[in-house]
Amino acid sequence: MAVTVSVLSKWRLASICDDGLNGPSLQPRRGVVPLLNPLADGTTARTAATLTAMMTLPKSPLFRSLAYLAAIAVCLLAIVAIRILEPADKALPVHGVYDELGHLLTAVVAGIGVRALRLPIPLWSMLLGGVVLDLGHVLQMMDYVNALEGSTRSGSHSIAVVILLACMGFLDRRRADIWLGIAIGAVSHLWRDMGTGTVALMWPVTETVYGTLYRRYLAGLAGMAVAMVGSAALLGVHVQAVDQEPSP
Ligand SMILES: [Zn+2]
Repeated sequence: MAVTVSVLSKWRLASICDDGLNGPSLQPRRGVVPLLNPLADGTTARTAATLTAMMTLPKSPLFRSLAYLAAIAVCLLAIVAIRILEPADKALPVHGVYDELGHLLTAVVAGIGVRALRLPIPLWSMLLGGVVLDLGHVLQMMDYVNALEGSTRSGSHSIAVVILLACMGFLDRRRADIWLGIAIGAVSHLWRDMGTGTVALMWPVTETVYGTLYRRYLAGLAGMAVAMVGSAALLGVHVQAVDQEPSP
């Protein structure tokens, strides 16, 4: 009996799954023995309808947006937690671990916005871009470059380097999406470093360093990501409304 119930449940789910998210049919598949039709009674039909609703829910632009907003909130909380939990008397490697973790989470927040807008940019490329500018610190440690006056960073932390990374996409056109992701991640890196210190944004034109408040960095990051998710929701409901219009 238990085996029979299990088989019926699997068939019922399969019937719904096979129709995907585009309006699942509650009709049994062709070739199924009528005696096994699990939708014969009202209770089963209601159960199937509930399952159908559960499976179509992720398609809703508003549900998707809520899920993205929740993910953004979790990342922002983690960024704040890193700031609070970082020991005051940290050694450089310890600070490095906390800082890179913060950069990765910052890139993830930007990546959630990009994902919400369904832009074809791999998240991993944004994560790579979120830490790549700190190769400048490695060059500093190897005495190839020096930190600029008023900052702990070199010219590696500048818009010129971001533009250079983005322009790589024009040379390596098959991977232009990846270079774009790296460039976006690098922008998120600059923004975080401005919140935790200063960077020479306009290097090599000028070595003037720029910074902002940490809470302004958080607010700017959250605002940008929420705006992207909100834009995606608006576009989603627009597409749904157009799709549901009766054809002339
Ligand atoms: Zn940095």
